[in-house]
Amino acid sequence: MSADCIFCKIVKGEIPSKKIYEDDDVIAFHDIHPITKVHFLIVPKLHVESLISCNAQHQALLGKILLLAPQLAKEQGLKGFRTMINTGREGGQEVFHLHVHVFGGGESLPRI
Ligand code: AMP
Ligand code: ZN
Repeated sequence: MSADCIFCKIVKGEIPSKKIYEDDDVIAFHDIHPITKVHFLIVPKLHVESLISCNAQHQALLGKILLLAPQLAKEQGLKGFRTMINTGREGGQEVFHLHVHVFGGGESLPRI
């Protein structure tokens, strides 16, 4: 846990979130500023800053998060979706607690 990390506070229930999933390792909740009809974040409960900070010890956790993406996307009514992991300031990361964006809904997303 990191004392002033916003996602650690969500994990601890100190900040409210629109939670869609939780287990011992992971929490998922809707993004507060959705960029598509459905836009949620899958977040490990463990405070890991970013994908750059991950190593072999995080392999199972990363696999679990990736496999949750299609399961939760389906539960949210998506037939397809996009995942995004912003990594480091140069990668556009703003919250330095690892998270996977999942978004979709409506028409097909533009190519990037
Ligand atoms: P990034 O670090 O660039 O992947 O972006 C962090 C994402 O977290 C942004 O899409 C924010 O809208 C989202 N976010 C920040 N604070 C909250 C919060 N309290 N609840 C839900 N989503 C949040
Ligand atoms: Zn954190």
